[in-house]
Amino acid sequence: MIQAEQTQRPVWTTRRLLAWTTDHLAKKGVEHARLAAEMLLSHVLGVVRLKLYMDPDRPASDLERSAFRDLVERAANHEPVDYLVGCTPFFSMMLKVTPDVLVPRPSTEALVEHVVQHARRTPGFNSPLIADIGTGSGAIAIAVAKHIPHCTVIATDVSPEALEIASENAHDHGVADRISFREGSLLEPLAGERVAYFVSNPPYISDERWQKLSRNVKDFEPGGALRGGADGLKFLRVLIDQAHEYLDRPGQLVLEIDDTQKEQVLALAEAAAGLSHGHTLADHEGLPRVLVANSQ
Ligand code: SAH
Repeated sequence: MIQAEQTQRPVWTTRRLLAWTTDHLAKKGVEHARLAAEMLLSHVLGVVRLKLYMDPDRPASDLERSAFRDLVERAANHEPVDYLVGCTPFFSMMLKVTPDVLVPRPSTEALVEHVVQHARRTPGFNSPLIADIGTGSGAIAIAVAKHIPHCTVIATDVSPEALEIASENAHDHGVADRISFREGSLLEPLAGERVAYFVSNPPYISDERWQKLSRNVKDFEPGGALRGGADGLKFLRVLIDQAHEYLDRPGQLVLEIDDTQKEQVLALAEAAAGLSHGHTLADHEGLPRVLVANSQ
């Protein structure tokens, strides 16, 4: 009798939960379904992902299953898993994220990598003042502060909610004393400053590309962090045009772009007063995603 009951109601082990959830999420069209299932289950169980593989036969309690089921349903509805678990990796750090901030992307690591390497190898740039315009979760500001030990950073955003998260992340990573968070639009919070690096990952998605974005981005990430007007260049245009007024000489402008905008931003940098040597750098996928120009 007991035997029969057990065969009818199989135990929900880690292995079974992952297999079922991966299949369920994949059927709902969720990308990277296996990874999503692992992230959600490790979050609910309070363990690192590797632990799931070390203990695949661990049965989940009713409480764990119910918490997991709720998250899986939200993920199946295309809510980003990073928001559901409340954090995301960036430049070898864990950052807190909420729906008030953009989930930092791997492409942005190319921008950080460039600034860190440039500061390390260029005489005169080893204790720079860096501006990060539109800091969101604080990803860029915190990563450069951690890896350029003598730098100081001004991190700005129009969103007070984003600045709150960025400030929490800066505290968690021990760099809050070197980052000044300022609320305001574009160049306004920099009034009277001259910086060595003017860095930004501004909203740059055009209306046309916005329509084609996947649901988990379009329906859940903040539109104000992504949309850059009809042609996507609304913010980039202002930054490229005016950055030189806030840059030391020598100094560098470093902006994230969409790969389709390469020619346009190079032309804008060429036409801008006070900038020279405009060029683009590739991200981990080999796409041109970073515009670099020197102040002159
Ligand atoms: N730097 C972060 C976030 C980039 S998203 C990262 O790389 O992950 C773009 C950010 O710009 C958002 O946080 C958004 O709130 C902010 N933003 C939008 N319009 C702005 C403006 N006019 N001035 C300053 N920041 C702005």
